[in-house]
Amino acid sequence: MTNLKKLDHPALEQLLAKLETDYKAVKLENLSLDMSRGKPGPDQLDLSDGLLDIVKSTDSLEVEEGIDIRNYGGVDGLNEMKALFADILKVSPNEVIIGGNSSLTIMHDTVARALLHGVVDSNTAWIKAPKIKFLCPSPGYDRHFSICESLNIEMITVDMLEDGPDMDAVEELVKEDASIKGIWCVPKYSNPEGTTYSDEVVDRLARMETKATDFRIFWDDAYTIHHLTDEPDQLKNILTACKQAKNPNRVFIFASTSKVTYPGSGVAAMAASEENITAIKKQLAVQTIGPDKINQLRHIRFFENAENLENHMKKHAEIIKPKFDKVLHVLESELGELQIASWKEPNGGYFISLNTLDGCANEVVALASEVGVKLTPAGATFPYGKDPKDRNIRIAPTFPTLAELETAIHVLCLCVKLASVKKLLQK
Ligand code: PLP
Repeated sequence: MTNLKKLDHPALEQLLAKLETDYKAVKLENLSLDMSRGKPGPDQLDLSDGLLDIVKSTDSLEVEEGIDIRNYGGVDGLNEMKALFADILKVSPNEVIIGGNSSLTIMHDTVARALLHGVVDSNTAWIKAPKIKFLCPSPGYDRHFSICESLNIEMITVDMLEDGPDMDAVEELVKEDASIKGIWCVPKYSNPEGTTYSDEVVDRLARMETKATDFRIFWDDAYTIHHLTDEPDQLKNILTACKQAKNPNRVFIFASTSKVTYPGSGVAAMAASEENITAIKKQLAVQTIGPDKINQLRHIRFFENAENLENHMKKHAEIIKPKFDKVLHVLESELGELQIASWKEPNGGYFISLNTLDGCANEVVALASEVGVKLTPAGATFPYGKDPKDRNIRIAPTFPTLAELETAIHVLCLCVKLASVKKLLQK
């Protein structure tokens, strides 16, 4: 098959009939495959099972700061856990707060606290302004957008380019509008496109002029150590860039071990300037008497140092790289020459982002669902669940087995072809 856009109507009609026959055959297979969320597979979870018995009642529970970790306290986490995250995020341990089990919770609460109390550079609580807006580079992470929606923050979509958000647009918007208080960023192996921001984008974000004096970058570095190859992308240090640009308080950085050890039972952290950290610690002390230090100790003992952590991540890559390769191979063999879809090969992270012809993504997801292949809802990667071009589909390859993945991607490709041919016939 060649470029579908070059086929005339009779040829497209003929192709449609064949694709419909294939689709009916798939329906009879009664598939039930879930490709919707980026979860580690069971074999990835097995890698961390040492966590389950690494802290025993017979062990010494001694930690660096000499506190009894079974008791309340340590609102910002254990020193050794801070040191590990400082290593991961390339900041100083004084610039880290360890949280509970989820970075999403920390992000939500950080936004909520800014609304209720403002941040260190604020004159007043954000919520007192008639309107608060966030920039949302898209496609992006759906749950960032859900936080905005639930907290009544208006979202402004900014395009993601090859090397990060469209900075011309970002700079123009933040310069003029004091109600724009934040931007969501997944700067490395972004969800869903796998993009890593260029040094120039990092620098421009750090130094750009903002009308809001208390503007914040919500830097969700979720995939910073999730490489798929031996030549990982390099991300410039945003906190250093902000300090150099004389905007030291501009960035809040977030990360967790959710996709390193156990999602839901990992350890999450945030990093920021010491001034930010001091202010947040005070507020946190109202929210909690301290996080789960026993789970922190499990992680400290399990990894011991950054080198072991790096080796652990290589084991993840060994398991999931073949899955990414499988998806890319099937996409190329099924859709490569048809000019009806595009995708990129990510160097890390958890997703492959597929763009269909404009106006086809919803139809593709619906067609796949009807034959038992559940995908992330089309539009989910955009604010308010609305993809203006209705073309982006997020593929999450990690959870299914290789065999399931192969079947699911073949079905996806069939659905892309079906929806595309129907679209081309309407022209
Ligand atoms: N940030 C991004 C970009 C993600 O893709 C995810 C999960 O898919 C999370 C955060 C969730 O992290 P956590 O489990 O630490 O809340």
